[in-house]
This record gives sequence, structure tokens and C-alpha cells, in this order.
Amino acid sequence: MGKPFASSADLGEKKQSMEVLAEGVYALTAEGDPNVGAIEAEDFLVCFEALATPVAAREWLARLREHTDKPIRYLVLSHYHAVRVLGASAFGADVIVTHDKTRELIAERGEQDWASEYARMPRLFKEPESIPGLTWPTATFSDTFTIDLGGDRGDLVLAHCGRGHTEGDLVAWLPKQRIMFAGDLVESQAALYTGDAFHLEWSAATLDKVASFGARTLVGGRGAVARGRQEVDAAIGQTRDFLAVMLREVGAAGSVKEAFERTHRALEPRYGSWPIFEHCLPFNVSRLWDELHGIERPRIWTAERDREVWDQLQP
Ligand SMILES: [Zn+2]
Repeated sequence: MGKPFASSADLGEKKQSMEVLAEGVYALTAEGDPNVGAIEAEDFLVCFEALATPVAAREWLARLREHTDKPIRYLVLSHYHAVRVLGASAFGADVIVTHDKTRELIAERGEQDWASEYARMPRLFKEPESIPGLTWPTATFSDTFTIDLGGDRGDLVLAHCGRGHTEGDLVAWLPKQRIMFAGDLVESQAALYTGDAFHLEWSAATLDKVASFGARTLVGGRGAVARGRQEVDAAIGQTRDFLAVMLREVGAAGSVKEAFERTHRALEPRYGSWPIFEHCLPFNVSRLWDELHGIERPRIWTAERDREVWDQLQP
């Protein structure tokens, strides 16, 4: 018997922590499970990320409702992955915002991604029958999208920093409070998932752009909130290092199997104990192998292809 497939054997409930990052700025972290957030405007709320099902999302909203009863005008989704978007219906938001590419990716591969992620991470899909279908954005943008929060609260700026974790990631930036919600473009002490990534661009121009905002507080896609310049730099630096090691090791390998072994050996000492490390690595290496061999856009993951790659690479 090899290792259990992806996170299929990870059934232990994670502890959720609600944090108030500044007045009216909230984050919910969960020991390496996907993070979510919310920003209070003068007379409405902006929610960031939707979790995997409406039932999971309603639990988050119940905690948020202990702090504010403002109506949810915007739901912002950082990218198309199922565990971030399929809970959207619980928010009853007036507007669902994503990057242009995210809408295209949902149309192109949303169904397959749903099946793939459900099999990889079943625990995150609380009452999966509560999902009404794919989540469709109602407003999209290519470079930036600014939401005026009203009063003296300043703006919330949604920005595309280039291709990275996916083709259409966005970050949410509060210039006044210098707080960034980075989605899966940055992880803080959680392994990276790069199965749909553009490693070369992400590790260079895209992370340079993310860093250029000069955030003082950063909420990554998974893991703890980075507080203060040093922790923010460390989270971005760790993300960059993880990608650089992958690029070096996969680039030096003569086969995809060798690429997996080399990458595992090189990353394991620093990152092996971080959430979803073993889960992600076969998918990550498979995608990077493709990228370095001229396959421009990530191939679509299906539940079947997931199993094939897992059986081929995970010993
Ligand atoms: Zn993702």
C-alpha cells in the first residue's frame, strides 16, 4: 500500500481562529485549511473567499455575524478552485467579483475541478449536496477593481499581479491599513499547491508585484496571518523559495519520476511537515514538468488523471 491519496485520509477537524486585523477587518484561519476574510465598509460588507460548500460558509458567516450585521454587497473570489468558491450561495452577495480569467477557467474546467478537489479533500466539503452548482462571477476585471468603503475607511483594491497559482489570481489590498489578502499566491507555513500554476512567472514578476505593495499584515491562502514586515517578508520569501527549489530540481531531472524524487528530497527538510505537502507534490511536479516542456497552459485535472499521477509518483 502506498500513501493515502491526496488528503483523503485527513479527516481530523481543524481549529478555526477568528482574528480582527484592524477595525472592521476580519480573517478566519484554520491550521492550514483555506483561509477566508471580510472587510466592513460604512454600510455593507465585502467577503473574501467562499469555502467549499454553503454549509461550511454558513458556519463562517455565523462567526462573522457576532461582529457585524451589515449586508454583504460583494463576495470576492481570489481564483477558481472549488474549495474557495463553491460555498458562494450562502453569502447572498449582490456582486461576485473575480478576475476575467477566473470566469473563463470556471467555464472551461470548473466541473472537472469540482470532482477533482472533492476527491482530494473530502473533509472540506461539508454537506456537499448543499452546493447548488458552479459559482459564476457577476463582475470581472483585468487589472484592478476598486471598492470605495465609504466614510474614512478608504478603498479596497482588487489587483491582478500576473499569472501565479492560477492564470487569474487576484489579491485584495487595503492601502490605508496596509493589509493584504493574497489568496493562494502566498502561503504562510503551509505547502504550495502549484498543479495549475505558472511557476516561472509566479516565482519572479508576480511575487515581485505582490511584495511591492509593502503589506504590514498578510493573510495567505492557508496558514497563520503574517503580522509585521518581518513575517510578511518571510511568507513571501518562503513561497519564492519553494518555487525556486521546484524549478531547480525539476529542471535538472531527466524524467518526471526523477523530478518528483529530487524535488521531494530537496523540499522535505524545510517543508515536509507543513500542511498538504505530500498531498500537493505529485500534482505540482507533474504541472511543472509540463511547463518546462512547452505546455503553456495547465492541463485539466480530472478525478481520473489525479489518480494516475498519484499512482505514478507517490511511492
Ligand atoms: Zn487554489
